[in-house]
Amino acid sequence: MNRISTISALLVLGLIGAAYGIGHRDGSSGREIGPIGTAEAAGGAASATAADFSRTGAVVNNDLFYYPGTEALRPDEMRVTACGSGMPLPRLSQAAPCFLVELGNGDKFVFDIGTGATERLMSLQIPLDYVNKVFIGHVHMDHMGDLPAFWIYGPQNGRLAPLHVWGPGGGGTRPDWGMKASMEHMKKMWAWMQGTLVGTIDTRSFELHVTEFDWSKVNNVIYDENGVVIRTIPAIHFEQSVSFILEWNGLKLAYSSDTVPNKWWTEHTKGADLSIHECFFTAPMFLDWYRFTPQEALNASTLIHTSAQMFGKVMAITKPKHAVAYHFSNDPDTLPLIVDAVRETYSGPVDFAKDFMVWNVTKEGTRTRMGVANPNRYPLPPLGEKQMAGEAERYRTPDWVMGGLEPQLLPVIQKIYDDFNEQLGTEIPNPLAK
Ligand SMILES: [Zn+2]
Ligand SMILES: [Zn+2]
Repeated sequence: MNRISTISALLVLGLIGAAYGIGHRDGSSGREIGPIGTAEAAGGAASATAADFSRTGAVVNNDLFYYPGTEALRPDEMRVTACGSGMPLPRLSQAAPCFLVELGNGDKFVFDIGTGATERLMSLQIPLDYVNKVFIGHVHMDHMGDLPAFWIYGPQNGRLAPLHVWGPGGGGTRPDWGMKASMEHMKKMWAWMQGTLVGTIDTRSFELHVTEFDWSKVNNVIYDENGVVIRTIPAIHFEQSVSFILEWNGLKLAYSSDTVPNKWWTEHTKGADLSIHECFFTAPMFLDWYRFTPQEALNASTLIHTSAQMFGKVMAITKPKHAVAYHFSNDPDTLPLIVDAVRETYSGPVDFAKDFMVWNVTKEGTRTRMGVANPNRYPLPPLGEKQMAGEAERYRTPDWVMGGLEPQLLPVIQKIYDDFNEQLGTEIPNPLAK
């Protein structure tokens, strides 16, 4: 990778982050100033002083930015990263919903993985064997559209471990709409891609473990391991939709996925340390930005989703220690309208999410920063030994297709093998040599 271009890309992202950070330090921010969070854990200062600067030394300044991979998590700390914060609308600036939750005990969980989220998740440069638990709130494209890519690009990106997926089903509703059926069909859809790679690369991480839970149960424990408990409550979003509550080490995280504010949420998420709830456009905004009809605008913002005023109200009722509004297009012209609508009904701490916004949550409070990701990522080394499928299972391209190889290429390919073996000291035979 060209180092200069990486550095300039990081600088550009840094400037975007700086511009955001400046605009973010206003009365509407949920930011809490204080020595909490990972700056301390990473051995850095919360804010650089004149003494930190020299003509040749590095400056440690974690005041505004989070640089993935550079900060240790404290054993009692939770870090949440928005890998998708936008609307269903596919666009460059915001992927569809996806939140990575990392805990001080080493556990990592992904909540929803909407379209565009995989590249953001992977840009954080975390070995994929550590990020193999995905929880899906409902089977909308903007909440699981990137699951196939995240799953099927495991082998090429260093994942050796199986992928575990949790999702809703049951509750007396159509079984063919549940997570199990959905994942069976996903495997079938990508049968060709899975099958043709067997024996070419280590494909063990295609193994998929699916847990379908009854979405209609209230405060239902769907995960309980290593001190982490994850519960679901029903969401009002058609059917077979849930919100999640994660509890660990005395910290409580609530994530709505999609829902109209409901009694289960207000009963079970009160006082959460971090409460991430959808905050959709207000009805009039759909007329201008989405060209919806008035009826379509009202349907979308009040009966299927939570408009910004409704978000404010549900936060005023549940009084989380720190609120996060997501699932709206966060642009210079839309944000003031969203902030005004939220402030009609809520005056507490709230962040208006963008992709790569990061929250460090401890019992002392939540610290919000923007993450600066590397846009030019490559796979990390696998955490274990790679294993190839045996000769018997190995996929082979039909002979007549390989017979179509242009004969003048044979010496070129032979030279590639010879040079490779010489450079690396290997003795890999050219299978095309007659
Ligand atoms: Zn949805
Ligand atoms: Zn959605």
